[in-house]
Formats: sequence, C-alpha cells, structure tokens
Amino acid sequence: MTDCIFCKIVAKQIPSSIVYEDDDLLAFKDIRPHAPVHLLLIPKQHISHLSEVEPSHQALLGKMLLTASKLAKEFGCAVRQDADGNYRGGYKTLINSGPDGGQEVYHLHMHIIGQGE
Ligand code: 5GP
Ligand code: ZN
Repeated sequence: MTDCIFCKIVAKQIPSSIVYEDDDLLAFKDIRPHAPVHLLLIPKQHISHLSEVEPSHQALLGKMLLTASKLAKEFGCAVRQDADGNYRGGYKTLINSGPDGGQEVYHLHMHIIGQGE
C-alpha cells in the first residue's frame, strides 16, 4: 500500500532499526520507545488491522507469536524462574486495533515491550 509508513519500512524506502527479517515478517525498533526494549513485529504483507485477518492468515499469525517469543529471548526479556521458583523477567505483547484500541498506524503490528537485562 503506497501511503503506508510500515510498507515503506518493509520496502526500505524509509530507514528503521531492523532487528529481524524473514520472507514473511519484519521487526524493528519503535521510534518512540516506551521501555528499554520496544520492538514492532509486522507482516510484510499489508494487513490493516486485526479485524481484517482471515483463515488464510492463520500460519502467518502463528509465526508472529513464535517470532515474538524468539525476539523477546534475544533481547533479554524471556520469562524465567529463579532458584525459588519465582517468575522473573517477561514482556508485553500488544496489538492495538482501530480507534478504540488506540491504533495509530494502520498496518498490523505487534508491540514487544520489556525491560531487557
Ligand atoms: P500503534 O499505536 O498503531 O499501536 O503504534 C504505532 C507505533 O509505531 C508507535 O509506537 C510509534 O512510535 C511507532 N512508529 C510510528 N511511525 C514510526 C516510524 O516511522 N518508525 C518506527 N520505527 N516506528 C514508528
Ligand atoms: Zn502497510
């Protein structure tokens, strides 16, 4: 989609700090981070919002979650348990959808937000 800023990031027409890329997905640092780790994970294919997804997107959506888990680990945010069994670390995954969901950029994206190590 020509006027979509995230499609322009996918096409490398505007710069971004890319942290992961494969045939289907791209992840880059949020330009206005809310935490030490704040990544955006997007499908390369333009999907405007979560209300637009269809059964044909099932594998892509699953891949997004698996990739989010992998990236969170790489950026030091994995959930872990200490010797006493208490949970430590972790991160938020967030998909804002539409005006009531606070969505600003209409290209589906998942925020990955954590404190890192
Ligand atoms: P939303 O509110 O749509 O869920 O979040 C959009 C996010 O995209 C915001 O956190 C905002 O900081 C980020 N963002 C908007 N424009 C750009 C950009 O050009 N580059 C990068 N890296 N992030 C952007
Ligand atoms: Zn787009």
